[in-house]
Amino acid sequence: MRFPGLVERVAEVRGRIAEAVRRGGHGQPVRLIAVTKTHGPEAVLAAFEAGCTDVGENKVQEALRKQEALAVAGTLPDGVAWHLIGHLQTNKVKALSHFALFHAMDRPRLADEAAASAAKQEITLDVLLQVNVVGEASKGGYALGDVAAEAERLVRLPQLRLRGVMTMAPLDADERVLRTVFAGARAARATLRAAGHPAEALSMGMSGDYEIAVEEGATLVRLGTVLFGARS
Ligand SMILES: *Cc1c(COP(=O)(O)O)cnc(C)c1O
Repeated sequence: MRFPGLVERVAEVRGRIAEAVRRGGHGQPVRLIAVTKTHGPEAVLAAFEAGCTDVGENKVQEALRKQEALAVAGTLPDGVAWHLIGHLQTNKVKALSHFALFHAMDRPRLADEAAASAAKQEITLDVLLQVNVVGEASKGGYALGDVAAEAERLVRLPQLRLRGVMTMAPLDADERVLRTVFAGARAARATLRAAGHPAEALSMGMSGDYEIAVEEGATLVRLGTVLFGARS
């Protein structure tokens, strides 16, 4: 086992998540996504063996390489849901068919291209709308003020099932900013629902801020460092 202590860390994190659900009072179910980026395929297996059936990757090529390596070795677990959590170039939308959920639908043109590709492949895609609540220039995502109009527009792209909202808080933000960001994502989800989308998910919370995210209603937390240690 390349990740000693992983089983214990998963248990610890799950305990903290349960406590945060109680404190927050939203009563939501929460899934833990083990973010295996920069680690080898063995991290995916280790996560699976530790009971994490959701894994997250932020780069499409890296994720496909790991899927391929595990398949070739005959060790690709059937029960793993692969999440693509990072920015995607429009010329790579075809690869979305290899993921259970895409978290970073962050601009209209990407939505259009993904829908067109899905239509060609005769599939539907489960996606989350990424929102950029405080307008960080370094991050993608819709401004909250643009979500309602985009939600109306996306109703006309039936190849995309809008399952919820994803957001990332600024690094080292204080608690007040974190809560503003996470509550903003929750409001965006309500906007999607009001437009008729099946938006249940709130993907928010990373190693440094997941407990506050869960208090604010997160249903998917994306955790790398706290499970696998610092990335080199
Ligand atoms: C890397 C990454 C994470 C996990 O970050 P940690 O701080 O290591 O938990 C979560 N979400 C996204 C989009 C990421 O790229």
